[in-house]
Amino acid sequence: MLIDTHAHVNFRSFKDDAKETLQRALDNGTWVINVGSQIDTSKEAVELANQFEKGVYAVIGLHPEHTHSQHVDEEETHFKSREEDFDINLYSELVKNPKVVGIGECGLDYYRLPLDKLGTSASGLSHEEIKQKQMEAFRKQIRFAKEHNKVLVVHSRPEKGSDELYKDMLKVFMEEKVSDMRFEVHSYTHTPEFFQKFLDLGAYVSFNGIITFDKTGNMAELVKMAPMDKILLETDCPYLSPVPMRGKRNEPSFVKYVAENVARIKNISVNEVVKITTQNAKKLFNI
Ligand SMILES: [Zn+2]
Repeated sequence: MLIDTHAHVNFRSFKDDAKETLQRALDNGTWVINVGSQIDTSKEAVELANQFEKGVYAVIGLHPEHTHSQHVDEEETHFKSREEDFDINLYSELVKNPKVVGIGECGLDYYRLPLDKLGTSASGLSHEEIKQKQMEAFRKQIRFAKEHNKVLVVHSRPEKGSDELYKDMLKVFMEEKVSDMRFEVHSYTHTPEFFQKFLDLGAYVSFNGIITFDKTGNMAELVKMAPMDKILLETDCPYLSPVPMRGKRNEPSFVKYVAENVARIKNISVNEVVKITTQNAKKLFNI
């Protein structure tokens, strides 16, 4: 049995077949944790979890891209991000649902900030103001996750070639004392140095399809560095389809290809990877 610890079957790409997709995953022996990016997709993640007795769970929260407004072109979809605050009242209602196992995905995203560093973005905010807003929403969600004893699910996407985001993130992690709580860093692709710092703070780390098509060798190095008892598997579907499914819409059933690649890089059997990562996910999310 596998667990896709970070899926978005709650997103628009699955609007016509979300339930069928989840059923297909369950039939293939794969449990799914759907992750929200703002209030609507968080609600949808909870609603989907409610439709299954077992094996489908929800993480609720506000993605850093949705703390300010901008146009975003994703691999398979186009959307305009909304300007939203982390509204504690709304999320306090949702978090009561027993299928909610984590808070996120929250964090920092400096990748798509507007081009003109001196000017303002579509939202009328400067880079500095956007970063401050993201950090504020991030801190709120760390405190909320602590208060409700949920796993913190962390997103990070740096500006190319810059360490600034990870310096800011570590500062927030230290000040908010994340080492006292359960947390995971999802889809990390930056340098081994910061990766090690997160591991030292007690982070779980989740790998996805990127490890099946990364040709730089960086992802293989990160997989090798990660202790087996801290590794989680995910798809981040509908994005990041693994080899051999490139070009198709990604879905939770494809998490097996990520397991196969962890096994190849770690030079251990696929069965062992499946067994250990499932144990890790069950322990971390308490499912
Ligand atoms: Zn995601």
